[in-house]
Amino acid sequence: MDSSFVKPLLLWYNKNARVLPWRGCGDPYRIWVSEIMLQQTRVEAVRGYYERFVAALPNVQALAECPEDELLKLWEGLGYYSRARNLQKAAKVICAEHGGELPRTAEELRKLPGIGAYTSGAIASIAFGEAEPAVDGNVLRVYARLSMFSEDIQKDAVRKRVREELLSAYPEADGTWGLLNQAFMDLGSGICRANVPPECDKCPLSGICKAHLAGSETAFPVRGAKTKHRDEERTVFLIRDGENVAVSRRPAGGLLGNLYEFPNCEGWMDADGAVAYIEEKGFLVLTVRELPEAKHVFSHLTWRMRAYELKIAPREERGEALQSAQESSMAELQKAPFEQAWIFAEPKEISRKYALPSAFAKYAELLEIRRGKE
Ligand code: SF4
Repeated sequence: MDSSFVKPLLLWYNKNARVLPWRGCGDPYRIWVSEIMLQQTRVEAVRGYYERFVAALPNVQALAECPEDELLKLWEGLGYYSRARNLQKAAKVICAEHGGELPRTAEELRKLPGIGAYTSGAIASIAFGEAEPAVDGNVLRVYARLSMFSEDIQKDAVRKRVREELLSAYPEADGTWGLLNQAFMDLGSGICRANVPPECDKCPLSGICKAHLAGSETAFPVRGAKTKHRDEERTVFLIRDGENVAVSRRPAGGLLGNLYEFPNCEGWMDADGAVAYIEEKGFLVLTVRELPEAKHVFSHLTWRMRAYELKIAPREERGEALQSAQESSMAELQKAPFEQAWIFAEPKEISRKYALPSAFAKYAELLEIRRGKE
């Protein structure tokens, strides 16, 4: 590959760049936050979260000092919560070891939690002008089509080679890579898109694009076999004690670690089974109502959820036997890895304090619990 893509791409970007709240700000912290949010999330979904996040946590220090529950609440709805935790871990390292300023090179940035090859390249090139291609899915797709690159772009070694080839095609350390990376992002998300035919008639690179000239745009990029996606059936319990609703904190680590959820378990239950399950925990169920089903798709897994609203007797009406059953059951719950202690709180308090992931959005809505930007 030679440097013939540089000029037309920059000219096109100059006229067609998307206006985004983090663009042109020159603030490495904001560029970093936006790049982390944009991992696995669309630009349009990120906008509102980004504004709210940087208003609440305007610099590295504020992020480093933010209580975890508040941080997760700010991230609520964006998904992939390990990104938020890694942001904070990195902010603490930046405060402790770099005087509160982000390192200026991709190599140094990569040593921070949650910052990989792509993000380090994006920050170093956009904020600090380093000659560093930021190779994400957009760049890989455009590159593969431009050069009819036939290797599996899912392999790390292949991604590294693409970075090296782009850099050797345009090695100038004149600040241009910051613009080129953003131009690739815009071209890849607006014109040379994934899963739909590219709009080559609008593309500034159509004259040099080998796949287009050969009429085989959609044959690239080449991808190996995907990992298997599996379905999981779950039953969700909206347990109401008067005005209060039960939530519990998921264990640290693993899927949705440390976030809050409505109590739930693997497998589908009918209404009788749901009542029996909750009464086994020591609660007296007064009424049960079946709710609409919901599903949530994670990258590797789909939850198919059945749900029940269960009204339970107020504590004073449960009787001593039930209370003691509940207390010993609660002690068990404290020990159990996937059924943490339940917290009963009003929907308003849950809206304010507890981060509920999107997987439970449908049921949160039924209870008028507000999540994230809602
Ligand atoms: S010409 Fe078509 S296939 Fe080639 S980079 Fe442009 S949009 Fe993509």
